[in-house]
Amino acid sequence: MNVLVVNAGSSSLKYELYDMQTEQSLAKGLCERVGSAGSSIEQETHDGREFEADVEMPDHTIAFERAVHALVNGDAGVIDSLDAINAVGHRVVHGGEDFASSVVINAEVESAIDRFGALAPLHNPPNLMGIKAARKALPDVPHVAVFDTAFHQTMPRHAFIYGLPWEMYEEHSIRRYGFHGTSHRYVALRAAEYLREHGIADEDQKVVTCHLGNGCSMTAVKAGRSIDNTLGFTPLEGLLMGTRSGDLDPAIVIYLAQTLGYAIDEIDTLLNKQSGLLGLSGISNDMRDLQKAASEGNERARLALDLFAYRVRKYIGAYAAAMGGVNCVVFTGGIGENDHLQREWCVQGLEFLGIEVDPAKNTYPLPFENGSTAIGTDSAPTHLLAIRTNEELMIARDTAQLLMN
Ligand code: ADP
Repeated sequence: MNVLVVNAGSSSLKYELYDMQTEQSLAKGLCERVGSAGSSIEQETHDGREFEADVEMPDHTIAFERAVHALVNGDAGVIDSLDAINAVGHRVVHGGEDFASSVVINAEVESAIDRFGALAPLHNPPNLMGIKAARKALPDVPHVAVFDTAFHQTMPRHAFIYGLPWEMYEEHSIRRYGFHGTSHRYVALRAAEYLREHGIADEDQKVVTCHLGNGCSMTAVKAGRSIDNTLGFTPLEGLLMGTRSGDLDPAIVIYLAQTLGYAIDEIDTLLNKQSGLLGLSGISNDMRDLQKAASEGNERARLALDLFAYRVRKYIGAYAAAMGGVNCVVFTGGIGENDHLQREWCVQGLEFLGIEVDPAKNTYPLPFENGSTAIGTDSAPTHLLAIRTNEELMIARDTAQLLMN
């Protein structure tokens, strides 16, 4: 069975085709600048063939047609006809409280995704455009929605309710939803396998997963279920991120508006696009640039790095408390998988939780045999892992699984 995974953004469409017998990625591609001038498509196959073209893609429907055309035809084609695509799995950011797992898409699901657009205005509308485009081009195969929020629907109420008047939740759906769920679920499953092999039964597993990329979040995963996530009502809460502030006193927003005269959309831009590593350092949102600047003596870059690690460390402690212990910490995402210094700093001083990095194992680049590497000392009781995330494969698996049921 071949499953096509689609991730549609406002001006982009990412896709990857999997053979689910082997879980081998056959090809992946990206349509960029969809809806504006200068749009282009690029595709790479598992055996290294490449295709690139500047083509007009005024909307997602045309972009999707281009994508499947590239999979079938030409130098980087991997299938003989569209009939070889048996199902399509779609990444959808927000599933509200309606979806605790992936679902086959029908008109009702589409309208729910549309409704949750109010909670994720930057993501759900383009996700839905991708779904409509794909369903139009491939009407005879099942389409599945895989939600970023679904994994976190197991959070207990005390973790997801804010200290606001109850009506804010009941009437306006204001609560913590948590995000990056597909990545957290993927690495948590890998960690669970590892722990089982190391004699820790599923019901005893207490795992903290740290997804550290441009967006960053952490999840407390107890016995395989998410019980807390650092992202909240939107993907702004919690850790310091590339350009997002993470946690702050909400009264700062009031002060910005009332005293400093910021308009609401300016505050939105400030907190989401001008803060985080970029805003603090004044240099870049990219961890590699900050590591370089800090090593050359830039103090604000140094501060941004310290603050980043401090928040991760603080939440490891918080989640150990939330779960009544911790027996595994997992790093993933661009920073988590690559930045050995940040990994070390994020767990510095946590020996009291049984966490200790082995500098001989915590290297760059990591060997990632089979996608996972243990980086803790042999004597430390808490397992420390770096795991390569694979959201696309998780989406493909969910899609294949739903069709087999
Ligand atoms: P996204 O959240 O957009 O998917 P990624 O998961 O690709 O982002 O993570 C991007 C982050 O990973 C950037 O801050 C980048 O600097 C960081 N990163 C990638 N490679 C390295 C590396 N070798 N060392 C340090 N940081 C890295």
